[in-house]
Amino acid sequence: MQIDSKNTRAKTLEEIYLGLQLMTILFSIIILKYFRNSSSLVKQRILTYFFIIYILYVLVQFIIFIRKVYFKNSINKIYPNIFSACIDGMFLIVFFSLFPNYYQVLFHLFYIYIILQTMRFHNRNSSIFSTYISILYIILVIKQNPKLLISFEVFINIFFFYLISYILSSILKEFNHIESQLEYMYKEIANKNILLQSIASKDYLTNMYNHRSFYDILDNTMKSSEQDNLPFCLALLDIDDFKFVNDTFGHLAGDMVLKELSSIIQNKTRNQDIAARYGGEEFAIIFPNTCLKEAKKICEKIRQLIENHTFSIEDKKVKITISGGIGEVIVSETLVKEQALVKYVDKLLYEAKNNGKNQIKYNSNTICMM
Ligand code: GH3
Ligand code: MG
Ligand code: MG
Repeated sequence: MQIDSKNTRAKTLEEIYLGLQLMTILFSIIILKYFRNSSSLVKQRILTYFFIIYILYVLVQFIIFIRKVYFKNSINKIYPNIFSACIDGMFLIVFFSLFPNYYQVLFHLFYIYIILQTMRFHNRNSSIFSTYISILYIILVIKQNPKLLISFEVFINIFFFYLISYILSSILKEFNHIESQLEYMYKEIANKNILLQSIASKDYLTNMYNHRSFYDILDNTMKSSEQDNLPFCLALLDIDDFKFVNDTFGHLAGDMVLKELSSIIQNKTRNQDIAARYGGEEFAIIFPNTCLKEAKKICEKIRQLIENHTFSIEDKKVKITISGGIGEVIVSETLVKEQALVKYVDKLLYEAKNNGKNQIKYNSNTICMM
């Protein structure tokens, strides 16, 4: 789960904003009807054009928003438009001048405007919208009665415009700070989880997949083999007489050999193959969607490379060989049995050991897991 609170918040605010704008369209239609009967023809015309332009403008904004969020799925590209915020302010003033009698009731729309725009543009300076609304308010007062301009009421109203946007932007700043901290913590946890997952699934010495993740991957490979009806191969490789290496050169030298040998295996397998450290000096390779011939070729190559390789530990030269078993598998039942498969390949590995070591054993019959 990815925290996407900023985009979700922007989307919710734009939804509220557009919802309010759509409501104003409904209001506008009612007003237009009302003015048809009550005002002069010129005034009626001007107002009709003004409302039509505003309605069209809101509809275009609405369509762009719906397209972005619901059709293009680009929720992260929702930015509030400052131009639309200015138009809204003007629309508000026209609205006010139309209803001078309802001035007291409609005055709250100024606060709603400041709150909504401050929230939409929370990254900008908080005084932008209180200043803009103050200017519009002063124009309105001058239009109604210029004498009222130098009054306590106007002063108090303007003071509250600034106060409300200041309080709100302070809260929003604090909120954004907490949100950023949460986002940072979430990223930290996500990164730590990835690291922990890698530590839990990899072997500390060789950095190969460990025993547990080997079985997880084998399980998945068997499921996809069954789904796609394609064979895959499993190989088990074991270092010959490794005890002798440990006894002769010490366990630390043995560790170095294991490390170097694992990088040979990883380098010689293809990208799609999964190499794991099955146990102490035993390695497993899963070859998805691969036939026996191909897997045998890769394992033989690894065996020869190791046979010809000289492991240098400090001033000592160590030569080792490996033995292995490979099985080609096709899974035809939902109930997969990884253990039975590993046992089967393990048997081939022991055949290789009993047969003189330094060889890869296989059975040319495909195993059909039921
Ligand atoms: P074989 O050819 O039959 O496989 O003989 P082997 O000596 O390789 O087999 P055995 O099972 O007798 O011994 C395996 C040895 O691998 C014993 C153990 O000390 C060593 N070993 C297992 N894990 C590690 C490890 O992480 N580091 C080191 N240095 N040795 C390890
Ligand atoms: Mg061994
Ligand atoms: Mg062994």
